[in-house]
Amino acid sequence: MLKTSNSMCQALTKKGKPCRAAATEGGLCFFHANPNKAVELGRIGGRRNGKSPVGSEPLPNLDSAAAVRDTVNRLITDVYAGKLHPRIATGLAPLMQLQLRVLEKMDLEQRLTKIERQLKAMSENR
Ligand SMILES: [Zn+2]
Repeated sequence: MLKTSNSMCQALTKKGKPCRAAATEGGLCFFHANPNKAVELGRIGGRRNGKSPVGSEPLPNLDSAAAVRDTVNRLITDVYAGKLHPRIATGLAPLMQLQLRVLEKMDLEQRLTKIERQLKAMSENR
């Protein structure tokens, strides 16, 4: 057991190392004494332990309409099976829609570029 110090936080960081932050009266630093504050401030970090918050598997690359469709399928299945909190699915839904819209736009742009190239080629061959 390490020698405890009153001046340093006695908790461990997320990486499992001694925190070393300045401790408050309880022997813990501000964040370790107020874990909810840390969660509020650093939600981005990881939930390394336990289940993934997005269900059974990490989300795939949503780089095609088919991938978005497959993922929506899986989210529905996961919510139904109780593997995914409906609130997370609710939060993801508008993002999926946004992604679909972007994909549609990209698709249109690609087609437009192709047509423009063909038109240019036609006019040059004249
Ligand atoms: Zn600490």
